[in-house]
Amino acid sequence: MKLDSKIPEGPLAEKWTKHKFNLKLVNPANKRKYDVIVVGTGLAGASAAASLAELGYNVKAFCFQDSPRRAHSIAAQGGVNAAKNYQNDGDSVYRLFYDTIKGGDYRAREGNVYRLAEVSVNIIDQCVAQGVPFAREYGGLLANRSFGGAQVSRTFYARGQTGQQLLLGAYSALNRQIANGKVKMYTRSEMLDVVVVDGKARGIITRDLITGKVDSHSAHIVLLCTGGYSNVFFLSTSAKGCNATAIWRAHKKGAFFGNPCFTQIHPTCIPVSGDHQSKLTLMSESLRNDGRVWVPKKAMPGLKSKDAANIPEADRDYFLERKYPAFGNLVPRDVASRNAKQMCDEGRGVGSGLAVFLDFTDAIKRLGEDNIRAKYGNLFDMYAQITGENPYKGPMMIYPAVHYTMGGLWVDYNLQTTIPGLYALGECNFSDHGANRLGASALMQGLADGYFVIPYTVGDYLATIGWTDKIETDHPAFKEAMDGVNERVNKLLSIKGKKTVDEFHRELGLTMWEYCGMARNEAGLKKAKKIIQDLKAEFWTNVNVIGTSNELNQELEKAGRVADFIELGELMVDDALARSESCGGHFREESQTPEGEALRNDDLFAFASAWEYKGDGQPEVLNKEELKFENVKLTQRSYK
Ligand SMILES: Cc1cc2nc3c(=O)[nH]c(=O)nc-3n(C[C@H](O)[C@H](O)[C@H](O)COP(=O)(O)OP(=O)(O)OC[C@H]3O[C@@H](n4cnc5c(N)ncnc54)[C@H](O)[C@@H]3O)c2cc1C
Repeated sequence: MKLDSKIPEGPLAEKWTKHKFNLKLVNPANKRKYDVIVVGTGLAGASAAASLAELGYNVKAFCFQDSPRRAHSIAAQGGVNAAKNYQNDGDSVYRLFYDTIKGGDYRAREGNVYRLAEVSVNIIDQCVAQGVPFAREYGGLLANRSFGGAQVSRTFYARGQTGQQLLLGAYSALNRQIANGKVKMYTRSEMLDVVVVDGKARGIITRDLITGKVDSHSAHIVLLCTGGYSNVFFLSTSAKGCNATAIWRAHKKGAFFGNPCFTQIHPTCIPVSGDHQSKLTLMSESLRNDGRVWVPKKAMPGLKSKDAANIPEADRDYFLERKYPAFGNLVPRDVASRNAKQMCDEGRGVGSGLAVFLDFTDAIKRLGEDNIRAKYGNLFDMYAQITGENPYKGPMMIYPAVHYTMGGLWVDYNLQTTIPGLYALGECNFSDHGANRLGASALMQGLADGYFVIPYTVGDYLATIGWTDKIETDHPAFKEAMDGVNERVNKLLSIKGKKTVDEFHRELGLTMWEYCGMARNEAGLKKAKKIIQDLKAEFWTNVNVIGTSNELNQELEKAGRVADFIELGELMVDDALARSESCGGHFREESQTPEGEALRNDDLFAFASAWEYKGDGQPEVLNKEELKFENVKLTQRSYK
């Protein structure tokens, strides 16, 4: 299949404006003749559902939580980027575009990224109008702080709870439409399949998580806004419920999967403390504004936070400041993570050996404890509660952890997948971050997709097909898909093996972290592929799923998701194997500069991979979307 990214012709800065003009419109009176399904109510889904309902479309929205406002987006801490240049420090739409392309190690589309930077300014206005309480300066203007990969301050924030406040804004807009009768909300509902008829997405199959009832819903278009798949690693900073099921099932119905191996490892997480853990905790990147990262110059096994103050300055290695003087502690996440790993690999890690210090002593001296508390108080409290240590008195200990997935369903400029009528928004698509996402850019992208891109682009498709082109749920394709879902549920319950779902998930996660984590090599990836294939075979003969299908059964929910994670894990390994260059978060040990930085190979790998499912047990086919760089020059990234 030939991939058509539909990036408009013409100068970069005019592409989106021209495109909007060229897209077909649905007249206001006809919008109510179209039905739209939105799966997911995080920032991407809530903003899309509210905006489309406001336009007049009939929307059905689904989420698996008990309320839309419990979507994982609520966990986002540090902030949201926008090229407002309120600081007058040299920011511009072009600079945000450039930083994002460079931060992503030149593996994202220029056209998409420029549009993202362009609409970023509208996001802030929209959210302020909704009442989002962004932090303000003394004079009342919105405040900014810095995030990695940028030398300007462009991150808008609401203490360490930016995601929560933004989601409350989007959720209010969504609730208004629910009250108006334009959105019908289905909570505690899990989408388990997409229905495709005549090559177009026509609806979805859901399971009510309380009663177990399997149902079908039809619409003219389906929007997936179902978040990222970091939990394939078992341990990650994502909410436990985050999963890949919606996009994986869509993939198996024909939606290509873009760059599955591009995973983000975040440098500032609370280190793993034992094998009892089921998730990891992020300490926001915003902390790197004031915290200084260091390890002792010579190995000091077991060094504790409370003893850090005894280490003289001369015996400390502020390795990020030393190696990257221009960006210092604010290098992008992939660079900071790899360096922390390198220090620990050299034996200079602190605490358990798999940790480095993040030290606020200088900032507290400079700004005072009260100021640090005002900026980061909730993050410091969280750290103290989890570790039992007081971060105002000694440095925090941090270590990289899986945090975000840049990969996702391949989408064109209109956010449409390779299945006409099926769209993907927010973290579940592969679009704008290339091989490494910059901090505070996920919220920007989810809201850009939902508030400012999709309301324009769906109109073009809907106006083209017309409102009569809809298939109702009595069509045999819906029954067939429902039968498939029921069979799978029954199969999972009937195996009655010896291992729990969590045991399989943990084994998968360890394999992914070991061989497809912060560093990858060919031999390790091949080994991982074999382990995952064996794990899949064992899962379907030896998993033990307790309970029944017609009740609240979280083991059953998890089982379906872990089965999908296992298959996705194998595809991630295939993708990492096929890309024998290093780029951004994908570090192939075979491809590095003499200084140990990621070494790209633009001649062979300046493409986005788009994997095509060919049937159970069949190898997937790799399609390549060539990435054209007409505005930025491809260079080796340098943050020195
Ligand atoms: C701890 C943490 C802090 C972060 N901080 C920041 C930050 O400061 N700035 C930033 O830019 N980014 C941050 N991120 C990243 C950012 O939070 C996410 O990328 C973003 O919120 C994803 O939004 P989303 O709308 O795409 O998906 P989500 O918010 O994950 O929402 C997914 C939705 O899909 C639904 N869903 C999923 N599958 C199904 C299914 N099968 N059936 C029905 N419903 C389904 C869920 O119920 C949910 O409603 C952070 C991430 C983490 C983990």
